[in-house]
Amino acid sequence: MTGLPGGGGLADRVASLREQLGDAARAAGRDPGELTLIAVTKFHPASLVRELAALGIRDVGESRHQEAAAKHAELELDGPPAVRWHFIGQLQSNKARAVRRYADAVHSVDRVSLVSALEGSGDSSERDLDVFVQVNLTDDPGRGGVPREELGPVVERVLAAEGLRLRGLMAVAGLGADPARDFAAVRELRDRVVLPLAPEAGALSMGMSGDWREAVAQGATHLRIGTAITGNRPLAA
Ligand SMILES: *Cc1c(COP(=O)(O)O)cnc(C)c1O
Repeated sequence: MTGLPGGGGLADRVASLREQLGDAARAAGRDPGELTLIAVTKFHPASLVRELAALGIRDVGESRHQEAAAKHAELELDGPPAVRWHFIGQLQSNKARAVRRYADAVHSVDRVSLVSALEGSGDSSERDLDVFVQVNLTDDPGRGGVPREELGPVVERVLAAEGLRLRGLMAVAGLGADPARDFAAVRELRDRVVLPLAPEAGALSMGMSGDWREAVAQGATHLRIGTAITGNRPLAA
């Protein structure tokens, strides 16, 4: 049984997705242990993060600072769940310091000025932040991400920054594009632009509810999956 359309609770959807991810990884000749499943909880209440943590989810994704900060603060009040917070949405530089306070990783780093804003203060009490540089695979600058030809300088700036640990690249497949082709292009950019500068930064954050299979086949290491786990999102407030 796949997909559990319309039925099944949260636990069933998590279990089913885990199983399908494992199968897809093995079918691609990959070790399922290489995959990090990030459950995207945007628009859902903080209580969902706690429910997911109880089901063994260790990574959650949020795309809006205000919302993420509020949920994080709410959960801190009575015993925070053991999850890592991944910030995956477009980020204004003036919110960068605040995001750094709760986020373990930012997947949407797409310009040098944002790297400067996220850079650590050199204070040894401050945690390092994991960073993915987002690539824009479309011609629409509104979609977020660095144009491919400008990737090198942004990667170099992250590597030179205090308190930032470059993990790899992030991308969202273009609307109406062939996701397999888009994800293959990201892998190729990683091999050609990132690995020569930073051999340890080979992670690929790509694949969402509708295209994670293609992403796994193309080497994704971090899957950002919302609706396939949570069901439909409540309408944005
Ligand atoms: C919302 C979102 C996701 C998850 O999308 P689903 O289609 O619900 O799986 C993944 N990545 C980003 C950047 C998002 O904003």
